[in-house]
Amino acid sequence: MQRVIEVSNQIQGCLSKMAAALPSHQDAQVVYHLRAGKHQVPLNERIGKPISLEWSGAIACTHCGRATKKSFAQGYCYPCFKRLAQCDTCIMKPETCHFFLGTCREPEWGEKHCFQPHIVYLANSSGLKVGITRKTQMPTRWLDQGAIQALPILEVNTRQQSGFVEMLFKEQVSDRTNWRAMLKGEVESLDLSAERDRLLETLSDGLNQLRDLHGEDAIRALNETPSTFHYPVEVFPRKVVSHNFDKQPLVEGILQGIKGQYLILDSGVINLRKFTGYEITLT
Ligand SMILES: [Zn+2]
Repeated sequence: MQRVIEVSNQIQGCLSKMAAALPSHQDAQVVYHLRAGKHQVPLNERIGKPISLEWSGAIACTHCGRATKKSFAQGYCYPCFKRLAQCDTCIMKPETCHFFLGTCREPEWGEKHCFQPHIVYLANSSGLKVGITRKTQMPTRWLDQGAIQALPILEVNTRQQSGFVEMLFKEQVSDRTNWRAMLKGEVESLDLSAERDRLLETLSDGLNQLRDLHGEDAIRALNETPSTFHYPVEVFPRKVVSHNFDKQPLVEGILQGIKGQYLILDSGVINLRKFTGYEITLT
């Protein structure tokens, strides 16, 4: 009898960033799905197995869907990149919000996204860092960064205010993740509650100045306990080599783990978020 060769499932579509979700019980691993077009592919179960992603050469804007030769700001076509408020520089630097000057690219979008409660948090991705996020983006934001711990410390009313607070914290703490260190998995656990208490003490003058400017209850201290996250990684890379579809459209190897928005293959790592909008075939 002839054996039927099982053809592995292939899916094709334009990449979105992976969906990362908290496991149903503590100490379990973050649950990842690769998203391409209308497909959602569970990834955790594929760890330890061969995987291949091949870019067709096409990129579709993540906002309008138009074909674009090049991706701007991780997934946008050039017109969207120039027109959308979410692509403006004030999103990366919230303290430069210019809504009050009447120059917001999309005031309605701004009201819906920037004039919402924001959280200032401490996280441990490759060491201690400070960051800001909309309240509704927790814990996604931390999982996307590959943080192993996170602790919300302050709540403010607007994105701009969170930017002012972050600026202050940056005098003491980095706001960056060293992604190579994050991927190597050599990150020591930290006492985030103690770091919070130390920083709030050190920066109390600056925080009081901000309260004088924005209102006594504009910056509210939170009393939360740190969260801990475990990622599905079987083997951490010793040397971090990254794949890039623009240089080599075929990325393949054994999937060894997933952390942040990175797939860790035995042949190198790839930041899928960077390739949002790229049309790929997953095998
Ligand atoms: Zn577009």
